Amino acid sequence: MNTIKLDNRKISPSKIVCVGRNYVEHIEELNNDIPSEPVIFIKPNSSISDNLCFNKNDAIHYEGEISFLIQSGDLYGIGFGLDLTKRDVQSKLKAKGLPWERAKSFDKSAVFSSFVPFNGNIQALRMELYINGNLSQQAGYELMLNKPAEILDEVKKNFSFEDGDLMMTGTPSGVGAIQIGDQFLGKIFEGNKLLVEGAWTVQ
Ligand code: ZN
Repeated sequence: MNTIKLDNRKISPSKIVCVGRNYVEHIEELNNDIPSEPVIFIKPNSSISDNLCFNKNDAIHYEGEISFLIQSGDLYGIGFGLDLTKRDVQSKLKAKGLPWERAKSFDKSAVFSSFVPFNGNIQALRMELYINGNLSQQAGYELMLNKPAEILDEVKKNFSFEDGDLMMTGTPSGVGAIQIGDQFLGKIFEGNKLLVEGAWTVQ
C-alpha cells in the first residue's frame, strides 16, 4: 500500500476523495459550467506517489489543492496536494460523458506534502503553488464554492471515510502542464502562518 506522512507517522489512505469545479476562475479557464452540486471523484491508494513524474505519452497538468486528512469522519490534518490530470484525455472523456478515471486515477496522479494536525481557523486557510520560483496558483477558503465541511457532508451521503483517507478541495485558476526539471513548491497557510509545505522536481 502507498503511504503519506502525518507528522512522522506513515498512513495508508484507502482512497482520496476529490472535488472538481470548486473555484469559479478555474471553471471559466476550462470552459466548464458551474455545477449545481459538487463534482466528486475518487483516486485509489495506487495513485499516491512521492514523486512528480513526467509522462511522455500524455501531457499531465498540475492542480494544486488544499487537502485534508480525515479521522473519525472529520477533518483532522492538512497538507498540500497535487491532483495530476491528463487534460487531453479528460477533455475527450468529458465530451463523451464518460467516467474520468483514465484522466484522474492513474498511478502517480496524487502527490502530497506531509500532513499536520489542524484545529485552527479553517476560514483562514489558503494555498500557494510556486513553479520555478513563480507564483502560479493561489486561493483560499473564501473563494471555494463548496466549503470543506460542506464537501465532507456531501461525500458522506455517498461514501464512508476510513481513518487516514484524504479529501482534496479543488484547484483554483492557473493550471498548466508539467515539464521535466520544473521545481514545484506548494504551501498551505493559516492566514500568514505557514502550516506545511512540499517540494518536488519533475522527473
Ligand atoms: Zn482537482
